[in-house]
Amino acid sequence: MKRNISMILCLVLAVCLMLCGAAALAQDGTFTGSAAGMGGAVNVTVTVEGGKIVSVEVGEHSETPGISDPAIEQIPAAIVEAQSADVEGVSGATVTSEAIKKAVAAALSGETEEAQAVEIPFEQPDVIVIGAGMSGLTAAVRASELGANVLVFEQMAKVGGSAAVAGGSIVGAETIIEKEAGIEDSIDLLYADFGRLGGEGNYNPEVARKFAERAGTAVDWLDTYVGVNFGERSPTYGSYEPLNVNRVHFAVPADGDVSRSSGKGGSGFIMALMNKLDGFIDAGTACLLLETPVTDIIIEDGAIVGVVASVNGESREFRAPSTVIATGGYGHNEAWLKEFNFTNVATSTPASATGSGYDFARKAGAVFTGMDFCTAYGGAIPVTGFTKSLAANLYTNPGPIWVGLNGERFTDETKADSKVRSDAWTAAEENKVFVVYTEDVINPEMPMITGAQDPAAKLAELVEEGKYVFKADTVAELAAKAGINADALVKTVETYNADCATGKDSVFGRESELRAMDKGPYYAIMTIPYVLITSGGPRINADAQMINEAGEAIPGAYLAGEIVGMGNVCGHTTIGGIGHGNCATWGMIAAENAVANAGK
Ligand SMILES: Cc1cc2nc3c(=O)[nH]c(=O)nc-3n(C[C@H](O)[C@H](O)[C@H](O)COP(=O)(O)OP(=O)(O)OC[C@H]3O[C@@H](n4cnc5c(N)ncnc54)[C@H](O)[C@@H]3O)c2cc1C
Repeated sequence: MKRNISMILCLVLAVCLMLCGAAALAQDGTFTGSAAGMGGAVNVTVTVEGGKIVSVEVGEHSETPGISDPAIEQIPAAIVEAQSADVEGVSGATVTSEAIKKAVAAALSGETEEAQAVEIPFEQPDVIVIGAGMSGLTAAVRASELGANVLVFEQMAKVGGSAAVAGGSIVGAETIIEKEAGIEDSIDLLYADFGRLGGEGNYNPEVARKFAERAGTAVDWLDTYVGVNFGERSPTYGSYEPLNVNRVHFAVPADGDVSRSSGKGGSGFIMALMNKLDGFIDAGTACLLLETPVTDIIIEDGAIVGVVASVNGESREFRAPSTVIATGGYGHNEAWLKEFNFTNVATSTPASATGSGYDFARKAGAVFTGMDFCTAYGGAIPVTGFTKSLAANLYTNPGPIWVGLNGERFTDETKADSKVRSDAWTAAEENKVFVVYTEDVINPEMPMITGAQDPAAKLAELVEEGKYVFKADTVAELAAKAGINADALVKTVETYNADCATGKDSVFGRESELRAMDKGPYYAIMTIPYVLITSGGPRINADAQMINEAGEAIPGAYLAGEIVGMGNVCGHTTIGGIGHGNCATWGMIAAENAVANAGK
């Protein structure tokens, strides 16, 4: 069969966009369709009158403002002009352009998007990337920059993974931004922080050293080549455990709202990387397949030589000399979190973080590291089970105390940093920590729960339900309701109240915000840990190659991002910006070695 080398059509159900249009034009009416864009489904409404397409309107979508605007403005008009969905895409907004075209074709044909053809613009990829989160997009852009043909598989209908909902921090030393800000930093200092905070022996020194060496260049690459907006360009210590130098950089979110860099800035990385990848997609050297999960890896003679993906529901093989596994952590895999880390746990990670790459790694013979450590974020109220929706407010003036099922406190609550909190929720029996307070010790202006539209009403509802929030007139009664050791809790509160009278906490040295809880009603909010990021993963070497039991690199296999984890890089700690640092640093290193392995 004669094939056009520059355009292989992986046809599952071969439905030509032109034919879709022509078939439907016989019938007048208003038709709707949708297709996957960069941020999820793009919906269109197409009106046909007198056998002609008279209008195409783009409806609900979550495409990134700015990037997608030209496609949303130009493609509908072009389709009306051409009387066909088969029009030229808008450069720089290829993914959105394709989504609009496919959605229009689907509307006119009455077919679902699954009926469309999958087009890959090169015969064989040099590099396959599994996952289009921040690490996969970094690897894809870097490999493309180095001249490789790159095929990216993303199981979801949108790119971004965790970074799309994450804060914008990223760690790196000796960056251009640090130098501009007059911050004196060094690779040695960053490396030293891993030992100080992560604990010697909890990470691989060779890998940690490589991260320290390359993290700054990765930030510089995002800054100068990819075009990430770093806003005020003033690094901080990043709100986790204090680093020896302010080296946590912050990206501005995709919507440009500078005030939310620490809250939603991760979307800024995704927007800039996707913008860059779009250029390579336009040029025909990169291809991104959304809603196309990789279901297996192909191993021959101990090497990973390709993947099996579900393309429109049909299993297909794709081969390449190098495969980058950038599938993220296992933060949405409740069974694994319970197997490796916690008895009770909730998550703030997206549903995509199931850890499929760990299965691929296991199959390839990888050896794992650091699986027993996972940073816990305290305070989830498990009203919606595993997926976190509500949390207790752990800090309100003068402030509650935190106790375990044994009725004892953990720490000076007012001074608990991220590590102390993580340790408390990890060590607590059944991982249950009760936030105990009376009306007198909380700030009436600050709701005791977060995540509810009407916190006061929700709190009252939860008290009424009596499952997660307990209220009683006495401490003993409160303990009985909550299942806490009553004698111990009575003693804890008595000691705390006596200490409040002297102004010095005799157990943990708390000096500030001490006010006696000597008048009911008493409250206890039952909380469990939640995760944003996991730490353990398959071991790598300093070239981001996956390692087997014998310490040898598994040919063709490279890792990037959260799957690399703190377990390889910095041990038992979470430092500000390490998540995105692992994405950018290992995404680049993985891509560089994957491209070299492909002979490019
Ligand atoms: C709420 C929140 C806030 C955070 N804040 C910060 C922060 O401020 N700073 C920081 O450094 N880190 C932060 N993190 C962590 C950081 O965002 C993540 O560690 C990082 O984004 C992970 O990127 P990744 O590409 O490795 O994995 P992911 O983001 O999980 O992306 C993996 C992608 O691979 C896809 N995929 C998985 N399996 C397959 C498969 N079999 N086939 C095809 N596709 C597949 C997934 O759908 C997903 O899109 C935060 C995380 C969360 C959840």
